[in-house]
Amino acid sequence: MIQARELHQMVEAIDRQFKLDSKVKEAFCKVNRKYFVPPVFAHLANQLEALPLAQSQWISSPVTVAKMTQYLELDGVDSILEIGCGSGYQAAILSQLVRRVFTVERIDVLLKEARNRFSQLELYNIFTRFDDGLRGWKEYAPYERILFSATATEIPETIFDQLAEGGILLAPMQEGSLQILTRFYKRHGRITSETIEPCFFVPIVEGTQREATRGI
Ligand code: SAH
Repeated sequence: MIQARELHQMVEAIDRQFKLDSKVKEAFCKVNRKYFVPPVFAHLANQLEALPLAQSQWISSPVTVAKMTQYLELDGVDSILEIGCGSGYQAAILSQLVRRVFTVERIDVLLKEARNRFSQLELYNIFTRFDDGLRGWKEYAPYERILFSATATEIPETIFDQLAEGGILLAPMQEGSLQILTRFYKRHGRITSETIEPCFFVPIVEGTQREATRGI
């Protein structure tokens, strides 16, 4: 019960920094971030900080995850593709709000851990793939939403091809030395974009990684 109270306090703290829609708030209350952070950081799981994962990657701050989730405008959405599964926390939140979540990760040790979490938490509407996410996941396309959980320098054409008509793609974009959270829309086959705010994510890296390098 203490855990439930701490989680609730975290959600209220997010809400004070960034006003949450009621459905998004509910989603955050249903997924305990504690299961997604390395055990050594379990005591920090309900703080509003990003935390290190293995392989020099990061689980985003819950405020960042909240913003990404809300900026995706998920009401009535069927399927979403995430590029950069990492710990799986963002995907787990999305799984509470849409019917099917497809998430791709290029580092196999991270993906294995995320898969274990999804099955332990019985999040059966999350589908995972080990691959370079810059190729998307053609088999289940088109997606009504696409989310980059790492910073891109450009969005490959094949990814826009996998976005459904009327869909939204949200990505941190590298613009010189800045990262800008950017929302792209596909309307009548044409892509338009709007910038939202500065942000900070790890960069997208091409290719896949099976070998573990030294990490925590
Ligand atoms: N959504 C994650 C955030 C992880 S950080 C969470 O909630 O924890 C970004 C992740 O993107 C890292 O795990 C990194 O390995 C992954 N990534 C970077 N480039 C990628 C690529 N080309 N394809 C798939 N995943 C990629």
